[in-house]
Order: sequence, then C-alpha cells, then structure tokens
Amino acid sequence: MPPEPRQTVVVDGLALATEIRQRLADAVARQVAAGCRPPCLAVVLVGNDPASASYIKGKQRACGRVGMDSVEHRLPDSASETEVIEVVDRLNRDAGVDGILVQLPLPKGVRPTAVAEAVDPTKDVDGLHPMNAGYLLLGQPGLVPCTPLGIMKILEHHAIPLEGAHAVVIGRSAIVGKPIALLLQRANATVTMCHSRTRDLAGVCREADILVAAVGVPRLVKADWIQPGAAVIDVGVSEVNGALVGDVDTESAVGIASIVTPHRRGVGPMTITMLLQNTLDAYRRRGAGGRSGALTSDDDASARS
Ligand code: NAD
Repeated sequence: MPPEPRQTVVVDGLALATEIRQRLADAVARQVAAGCRPPCLAVVLVGNDPASASYIKGKQRACGRVGMDSVEHRLPDSASETEVIEVVDRLNRDAGVDGILVQLPLPKGVRPTAVAEAVDPTKDVDGLHPMNAGYLLLGQPGLVPCTPLGIMKILEHHAIPLEGAHAVVIGRSAIVGKPIALLLQRANATVTMCHSRTRDLAGVCREADILVAAVGVPRLVKADWIQPGAAVIDVGVSEVNGALVGDVDTESAVGIASIVTPHRRGVGPMTITMLLQNTLDAYRRRGAGGRSGALTSDDDASARS
C-alpha cells in the first residue's frame, strides 16, 4: 500500500541564511563599534573558469553585506603549484587576513591537497586542512567545512531529532560526505555512509530517518527510496540541458519526506553563510581585530543561536 501523503516542508535555505547573516552583521558591527577592524576574507582564484569567478564574486558580495572585508588574488591558469602556495603563504603571514579560501577546482598540475595543507589552519575557513579534519575526527574545536555546517543548521532549525536517528549519507568526499557524517555522529545519530560501490543503495536509503545526498548524479534519489517522514537534504548540483538539477527528485519527495531541501535556495545559501561564520570564528580565535579587549564569546553565542 502506498504511504499516506504527509505535509512536507520545503526548506527555505535563503530565508534561514538571511536570518543568520543578520546576526553575523550585528556581531561584526559590534566589533567595529568597539574600535576593532572588521574580519577579512582572502579569496584566491587560479585560472579563468567563469563559474569559479562568479562563485568568488558571490562570496565577496556576501562578506560586504555583513560588513566584513574581502580581498581577491587572481593567478593565471598557467600558475604553478609553487606560485599558488607563495600567495597562500603571504596571506598566512598577513595579520590583516583572517580567512583564506582557495577556489576549487584548481588547474591541472596544482594539487588541491598541497594547497589545502599550505593554508594556516587557523585561517582555513573551508576546513580542508588535515589539522582541522583531524580536530573534527577527534571531536575537538576547529574549522569545519561550510556545507556540512549549513546542513546541521538546517536540521537544527527544523527541529529534526538527531539522537538515535539513522542518518544515511550518500557521498564520501572530504568537503561534504565525510564531515557531515562525523557531525551527525557527534550529534548521536547512527550514521551509514554510502558511495559509488554501495550495494542496494535504494534499500539502505529506505531505512534513513535523515538522508543526505552529496553525489552529483541528477535525481539519483527517487521517491520510493525515501522513508515516510524522513528529513531529506539534497546537496548535489548538476547541470542537465542548461538547467541545474539536484541529487533528489524533489517534487516526488514532497508528500513523503518531513522536510526536503530544494536544489535552489536550499543548502547553497547556507554554505556561503557558514563561510562568513567561519571567517568570524577564525577572526575571534586568532584574537584579531587590532585591539585587545575586543568583544568575544557573547556575540558568538548570538550569531550561532
Ligand atoms: P565528489 O565528486 O567529491 O564526491 C561524490 C561522491 O559521490 C563520491 O564519494 C562518490 O563515491 C559518490 N558517488 C558517485 N556516484 C555515486 C552513485 N551512483 N551512487 C552512490 N554514490 C556515488 O563531490 P562533492 O564535492 O562531495 O559534491 C557532491 C555534490 O554536491 C556535487 O554535485 C557538488 O556540486 C555539490 N555541492 C554542493 C554544495 C552546495 O553548497 N550546494 C557544496 C558542495 C558540493
């Protein structure tokens, strides 16, 4: 018998992001009013990929809107790994820079792992440095990748019970799959990780109370993969005939899932918001701001709530 249709909340990631950004803007304004400089994010773009250029513009615009500074460093497509690391190194030593983001993908010959390792872990707002990955694994404070942080905020905002829940994560990348699995586990969910070699993926998904799809395969997750009442988070973004499509067939998830994130205005706006959050956190942890006695944890609490 088909399940009873249920009320599904289609998550408005943009509205939640806007709410959090307002709190971040207030926290930055308080720092500035206290005589400190605003937090500053440095973005590094290597090559001429138009999508990457547009992503970093969006990130810089988002910084400006919450009163943060941003600086941009562009290198040509022909830049060597050493040249990219030299730029990162300069930013590491620049006391006026709190966060460093190197936009991916990088051109052939520039290893993303080598670049991630070159970033000062205290400025690693993408959470990709092995030290921050290790802190996450050990459950210690550190900078955590932005998309998984945004997903946790969405689940929290919609009061999705995590303790004892069965969470299924499809995808095992260092930037989404692995960190979200660790965060869910830290929140006392029981986590199953799936990937391209998982047997009976549909069957595993059907047992999920929380289903996170971070794959990049258009509409991989079908309606009959979703347990009635499950929270479904669609991270994937693919282009099909010029249109952006998620990993989940969102329309058919409506009426089955408790919540579902749409591929537009879903996880994406939260990712950028968590980049801003990480930049503020890095600024505070480094004691930046140019004045001793800068405001500390109480605005953090309000920005994080
Ligand atoms: P990735 O390519 O590094 O990892 C994809 C993962 O999916 C791999 O672990 C692979 O094992 C798994 N996989 C591939 N095919 C599969 C299949 N048929 N069945 C099950 N598992 C399969 O990708 P990523 O960087 O983790 O990103 C995943 C998707 O999320 C991409 O579409 C990306 O564009 C998107 N993304 C969106 C945001 C956002 O803010 N909305 C942020 C990051 C990534």
